[in-house]
Amino acid sequence: MISVFGSANMDLVAYVSQAPKRGETVTGRAFRTIPGGKGANQAIAAARAGSVVAFLGAVGDDGFGGEMRTTMAEAGVEVERLRQVPGPSGIAHIVVDDDGGNSIIVVPGANGTVTGPTADDVAVIADSRALLLQLELPMDAVVAAAQAGQAAGVPVILTPAPTQPLPDALLDAVTLIVPNEHEAADITGADSADAALDALLERVPEAVITLGSEGALYGSRSGERLRVPAVRVKAVDTTAAGDTFVGALAVARTEGLPAAVALRFASAAAALSVQRAGASTSMPSRAEIDDSLD
Ligand code: ADP
Repeated sequence: MISVFGSANMDLVAYVSQAPKRGETVTGRAFRTIPGGKGANQAIAAARAGSVVAFLGAVGDDGFGGEMRTTMAEAGVEVERLRQVPGPSGIAHIVVDDDGGNSIIVVPGANGTVTGPTADDVAVIADSRALLLQLELPMDAVVAAAQAGQAAGVPVILTPAPTQPLPDALLDAVTLIVPNEHEAADITGADSADAALDALLERVPEAVITLGSEGALYGSRSGERLRVPAVRVKAVDTTAAGDTFVGALAVARTEGLPAAVALRFASAAAALSVQRAGASTSMPSRAEIDDSLD
């Protein structure tokens, strides 16, 4: 089992020719509500890629919370430990213009009420073969979860997004960190992916830097270093490519696959996801990933 301690957001997406300026009202072309949040996305990606997955987090007592619970459950994620708290669910208010540019407001809602794993959550984490963390819950809560994973000897896989300062207490408990190239540059101040990888390995035992259509770079303190190309595909929507990659990577690792094979599996899953619109709706099943690797 993989546990994911993280965020669930409803993405409220308005499509317009041009985003409104202050004081302006514009008529949009379309509107969609799309279940998202990095935690929920990674949980769905890992479940679709073939693992039993437990989601640990919170939604509000509004309609979005119920929808998010249903979406995760339908994707095969165990949601028994998804708590409902009074007040609104987390939302991301997204405006997408005709050039594909976007502006986003995230309101944490229920995610912001999570103070750390409950005693029941800690028991689930201790039973897991990997713990996935991102930074859309309060930092103290993420640190507490990471430490619970470390104390139980469970590999802790961190996606350090959205970018923010990373306390030593967090990194000391992390096994594998998976930033994209922008996050890696922000965290390390390094001006190349190779230099960023070296800097990350001074703080955590293993790191993967994802490089979009350029693939991914992996390194470990034991000296292994790999560059995995992206699968060449026509991308139509790269939303949640990174979350799909991490979810699939976690599944491959818990199956004991060597790093090179696990990275190819994650790249294949992410490449399938970018060929389809949406976040959770775009994540491939295990059969699709395996077929694409044949
Ligand atoms: P994020 O979504 O977090 O910004 P990236 O853009 O680095 O992360 O993408 C994560 C992974 O998704 C990449 O390492 C790659 O395997 C895959 N990927 C992203 N964009 C493409 C693309 N255009 N074609 C094929 N694979 C892609």
